[in-house]
Amino acid sequence: MNYNDYRRQSRVIRAGSVSIGGDSPISVQSMTNTDTHDIEATYDQTVRLREVGCDIVRITAPDLESVDTFRELKRREVGVPLVADIHFDYKIAVAAAKAGVDKIRINPGNIGSKDKIREVVLACREYSIPIRIGVNSGSLEAHILKKYGSPTAEALAESALYHADLLRELDFSDIAISVKSSDVQTMIRANRILADRTDYPLHLGVTEAGAGNRALIKSSVGIGTLLAEGIGDTLRVSITDDPVEEIYAARAILDSLSLSERRGMDIVSCPTCGRTKIDLISLLSDFEKRIMAEGLDKKSIKVALMGCAVNGPGEAREADIGIAGGDGEALLFKKGVVIRRIKEDSLIDELIDEIKTMQ
Ligand code: SF4
Repeated sequence: MNYNDYRRQSRVIRAGSVSIGGDSPISVQSMTNTDTHDIEATYDQTVRLREVGCDIVRITAPDLESVDTFRELKRREVGVPLVADIHFDYKIAVAAAKAGVDKIRINPGNIGSKDKIREVVLACREYSIPIRIGVNSGSLEAHILKKYGSPTAEALAESALYHADLLRELDFSDIAISVKSSDVQTMIRANRILADRTDYPLHLGVTEAGAGNRALIKSSVGIGTLLAEGIGDTLRVSITDDPVEEIYAARAILDSLSLSERRGMDIVSCPTCGRTKIDLISLLSDFEKRIMAEGLDKKSIKVALMGCAVNGPGEAREADIGIAGGDGEALLFKKGVVIRRIKEDSLIDELIDEIKTMQ
């Protein structure tokens, strides 16, 4: 079944060249962690993020001076839509809109009077840029926290709708919503509620997910569950690390659900067992380093590295190319058909050479 057949139908908004919602590809976002006032560092990190597959880059705008960085990145044609992340000060939002940012993340209920919200709406309308309302467990309004007692899924969803209503009263509906929690179940339920109650595009993320495997698993379960249900239009994986890692993780989540527009190499490998007679763990690690170093990871092929010849070719029949280990050697096969034997010590070189000849 085609994903869009069961995907929640949301309205479409645009952040520069990237459309979000409707049948648009699920876009991947991250956020710079440089000092925004440091133009060179922020520019460099934005370019790195773009190069590894980030579709939209968010940058915090803590004060009016920091808006200069957005202006400069736009002047340099950084090549990826920029989102200004703003808290409380409507003047920064207005300045960022004028500086050419492609989207603003601000919660209208946090910026004070209706006149201030109107100023932001007028600027966003003038420059045709959307607003993302970003609610998370730590930022709930006092009246909502009082009503629910804690940041429940219902509380998060209600907060997001409260902010959206403030914009809708000003006839502004160019909106995306995110409701994030470090609690995966809460994040999933909050997004399901919003998916039922609105047609605004949804930005998915598990916030403060931590680092390493813990962050990857929390994000994969939270974001992956919703995407598998057809919910979600754009996402950010949150990891305490170099933001480039967030893009690798986000792309892997999309790949695992066959939702990535940027098809790259799909690598399958067996977990190894008592039959394994080659050092598959080291071989796989070497292989992954080599394909990244030689830019082969962007090839749209499936590669299997299997530990034995008993189950290897059979288990990897769907692969375009692969190896099945023997004792100090391996069978090289293509589309499940054995091509030749190769020695373990030249295995990766020969596999890489074969892959280079493939379309
Ligand atoms: S492919 Fe072979 S070595 Fe790998 S787990 Fe299966 S049986 Fe074991």
